[in-house]
Amino acid sequence: MSDGTTSRLPPARVRRQLRREAGFVCAHPDCSEPYLEYHHFDPPWHVEQHHRPEGMIALCANHHGRSAAYSVEDLRAWKASGSKSETVRATVEWKRERSFVVVGKTLGWNCGTWLHLGGEPVIWLTQDERGRDMFNFTIRDSSGRTAFEMRDNDWVAHPKWEDIEIGAEGRSLYFKSKLGDISLRLRFAEKSIATIFSDFDYDPRRQLEMLQHLGPDLGPLNPLKELLESGLTAQTGLICTVEGRWTYPQQVEIAHGYGRYGGIQIMKSFAFMVNCVVQL
Ligand SMILES: [Zn+2]
Repeated sequence: MSDGTTSRLPPARVRRQLRREAGFVCAHPDCSEPYLEYHHFDPPWHVEQHHRPEGMIALCANHHGRSAAYSVEDLRAWKASGSKSETVRATVEWKRERSFVVVGKTLGWNCGTWLHLGGEPVIWLTQDERGRDMFNFTIRDSSGRTAFEMRDNDWVAHPKWEDIEIGAEGRSLYFKSKLGDISLRLRFAEKSIATIFSDFDYDPRRQLEMLQHLGPDLGPLNPLKELLESGLTAQTGLICTVEGRWTYPQQVEIAHGYGRYGGIQIMKSFAFMVNCVVQL
């Protein structure tokens, strides 16, 4: 940096090296938390501002907060012991009554099962006892084995990951497989629903006018009309954006603004789906 100071956040490659060394969980021997921070211990940050991975370790916020108690020898031993468990698991804390899922350019609202591929649900929502949405995913590796699974916000990542990174404040999850057949990024944000719509250049007022023109009974478009009439845009919602690539049951590619399935472009232009399933 130009003013001669070093950011306390280590560069991405150092963070990745420290996560991998610890098996993508806290390096404390009794901990399996994958929400990680990076501790500078040899020398400590106040002695020298450095990002040398040999003098750093990945710890959860709880153990990072207690790290003054650990000796350099303890920390060195934890670094050397490597990963404790092959499976990484944690919980997504995001839960709201109004949740949107974005896949490619498609915004889904109240779509119980959102994405159904080759005969099974891949992304779907359930509700807790207070009516808040919870997220569910099943992502399989190229041989059909479950690699990443989320049920009611609790997730498990089965072995063989090149990287697992949970973003600051749990705002994102990123998984990349060793074989390179899976990459998955989930991002969570709470926004006003008006902002969510304007991010997609979607004008709900114009849409509603068009629907009202079409007559009283719109068949499958009834739920959309009801939703737009409900004053939804004055509220806030949780938005979960899904991006990634995987190969089972066919090549799936979802990026900002588009989706491809089996090499065929889908979800290219914006769609706002209500009570729908994308079934491929
Ligand atoms: Zn810990």
